[in-house]
Amino acid sequence: MSKQKKKVVIIGAGFGGLQVIKTLANQKEYEILVVDKKNHHLFQPLLYQVATAVLSPADIAIPTRSITTKYKNVKILFGDVSDINFQKKEIVFQNNTESYDYLIIATGAKTSYFGNAHWENKTLGLKNLRDALSIRRQILLSFEQAELIGDYEKSKSLMHYVIIGGGPTGVELAGSIAELSHNIIRKDFRNIDSGMTKVTLIEAGPRILNAFSESSSQFTKLKLESRGVEVLTNSPVLDITDSGVKLKDRFIESKTVIWAAGVEGSNLAKKLPLNKDKANKIIVDEYCRTLEYQDVFVIGDAANFSKGLTKPLPGVSPVAMQQGRYVGKFIQSQEKQKQMAPFQYFDKGNMATIGRTDAVAEFGIFKLKGILGWLGWLFVHLVYQVGFKNKVSTLLSWVWSYLTFRAGSRLIQEEVQDLSVRP
Ligand SMILES: Cc1cc2nc3c(=O)[nH]c(=O)nc-3n(C[C@H](O)[C@H](O)[C@H](O)COP(=O)(O)OP(=O)(O)OC[C@H]3O[C@@H](n4cnc5c(N)ncnc54)[C@H](O)[C@@H]3O)c2cc1C
Repeated sequence: MSKQKKKVVIIGAGFGGLQVIKTLANQKEYEILVVDKKNHHLFQPLLYQVATAVLSPADIAIPTRSITTKYKNVKILFGDVSDINFQKKEIVFQNNTESYDYLIIATGAKTSYFGNAHWENKTLGLKNLRDALSIRRQILLSFEQAELIGDYEKSKSLMHYVIIGGGPTGVELAGSIAELSHNIIRKDFRNIDSGMTKVTLIEAGPRILNAFSESSSQFTKLKLESRGVEVLTNSPVLDITDSGVKLKDRFIESKTVIWAAGVEGSNLAKKLPLNKDKANKIIVDEYCRTLEYQDVFVIGDAANFSKGLTKPLPGVSPVAMQQGRYVGKFIQSQEKQKQMAPFQYFDKGNMATIGRTDAVAEFGIFKLKGILGWLGWLFVHLVYQVGFKNKVSTLLSWVWSYLTFRAGSRLIQEEVQDLSVRP
């Protein structure tokens, strides 16, 4: 008698979910159902380049369905999972229920405002394509508005961009906005000099890029400053209003405030009756399983994996990918009644771009800075892009942008009557 297929349900086809899919793809013992509320896999590390008009959305996203075309045992459904019934072993989405033998929660994280929910409406976050396009629209519109006003003094707050959070995303955004305004679009305007644009990066802690070494952090600060970015450290934000950002000793007037300061577990994770940390990340054991259910796994940004560690694993794509592959193999070993060693993270290092030809990259004891760091960054971000077409189009967009100093995607889709630069 042939063994019954096991049904593996994966919620979320991001970095982690995709690796589970790939590990179990085309294995006849498994029926795989993937449910995602987006129809595409998104390469989040390059979102800031869409936000700053260097790349187009299609360069960094690919329909999940097209990635899995060749995987005959994989079914994709477009749905927002709203609940899980662990007793019945069912997930709930769009008035559907689906049962599972194994469940993988790979729902990622969402922007966190550290208890200041009202800041969400005053700032722009960067977590998905919609966010990136909102930032791009806001930046382009604010220049158009300033050009209409035609007076720098009166448009100061339009031409001052504030980024809160000095991690890699904040650094990359600050460097990229400075580059866009001080170089790329400078010759395009007549009434304003976009070179007078101010970019301020605010960090609450004593230094930016705190996951990097002191020397990389210091290098990045100096490089950003030389590119015209004001870097404020030890500067916790006290409030954000429609007119700008309040710090303990200063109020920065700005119409564009970008929030890159923190993340927390997804809405689904928040709701589930499972052990979680303060940031709503689900606590898992050394096999990436929930503490409550042995057939439910949580991977990537949705999980708090801290078993045997001094602090939880960071919310970066290598963690999600390695956990995804591990869980795929763990399920196989369970089915073969074999024992698997606990999950171990292999840290491949950190990297962040500062701007054109400048980045910091740390791989163990190797620290690359400047052009070498940038080349390393370029290589890694191209290799890890999902899909051959994306790799090629991203490379071509970069080469074009690099050679011509022109950004590829600066379209505002609305007509003027629909336009509103945030008041
Ligand atoms: C702007 C930015 C820049 C970054 N830069 C880097 C970097 O340079 N290097 C690096 O290593 N990491 C970087 N990261 C972090 C990295 O992207 C994450 O660590 C990684 O995406 C986590 O993978 P994941 O699979 O856990 O979640 P994700 O990749 O976020 O995927 C989660 C998936 O779950 C889906 N989902 C969520 N909730 C539901 C639900 N209820 N129902 C159905 N589907 C759902 C989502 O639609 C999504 O497809 C960056 C993140 C951001 C936001």
